[in-house]
Amino acid sequence: MHKLVAANWKMNGLKEAGVDLARGLAMRAASEKLNSELVICPPATLLISVAEVLRGSPVHLGGQDCHAEEKGAHTGDISAAMLKDAGCRYVILGHSERRIAHHENDAEVRAKLAAARLAGMAAILCVGENEDQRKSGETLAVIERQLTNSLPTGLAGLNASDLSIAYEPVWAIGSGHTPTPAEVTGVHARIRAQICQILGSRWREVRVLYGGSVKPQNAHDLLAAPEVDGALVGGASLVLDDFWAIAGACG
Ligand code: PEP
Repeated sequence: MHKLVAANWKMNGLKEAGVDLARGLAMRAASEKLNSELVICPPATLLISVAEVLRGSPVHLGGQDCHAEEKGAHTGDISAAMLKDAGCRYVILGHSERRIAHHENDAEVRAKLAAARLAGMAAILCVGENEDQRKSGETLAVIERQLTNSLPTGLAGLNASDLSIAYEPVWAIGSGHTPTPAEVTGVHARIRAQICQILGSRWREVRVLYGGSVKPQNAHDLLAAPEVDGALVGGASLVLDDFWAIAGACG
């Protein structure tokens, strides 16, 4: 399986700039061969216009979150089926910004994962410790708890390409700081082992991405580290050259 490099635009981008950025990426992906799979996760307002631009391109479209219900009285929310309908193949779930600002817990993330599965979407499940947890040596325990409590049972019909785990230390997001590649390798190995324990050994292939201040300057070291199957990129995904350089660092 190719490495997966996902762009999380968060709440950034008005139509003209967002469409230009997506078009630039689609054009480069069409003319230069890459060894990675790319996904753009724009804000919901841009999904339809970015989907147009990506039509026929190898670059996939993704949502940044979905509701657990298929439809109903949930003002401001978007269902997995709606994302799929808009052209999304992927959805990011359990991002720390949603866990913190929207008080999302593991049970909700689990329900969203089940909804994404039902809609036929591939999920990128985010896990990671905050600074205090890291300082007190709780990193692996926090991630273990997040995985155990947010992975739905009964993923039997799924392929490993339908679920990726993004290890995103909260203290690394947008801070310019990252763990060392060796630390990332250690955490990813534990994540992979736990996924196999929960879901079965055929899930060894699951892609474990690193996210948190990935930039062109550190992308090669992080992406070449053992156990790293791609990256979830925030800030640097808003600059075409930077995101392209990160995607190219996959080898
Ligand atoms: C993120 O929030 O998913 C992220 C990785 O952000 P940044 O790359 O800006 O640290």
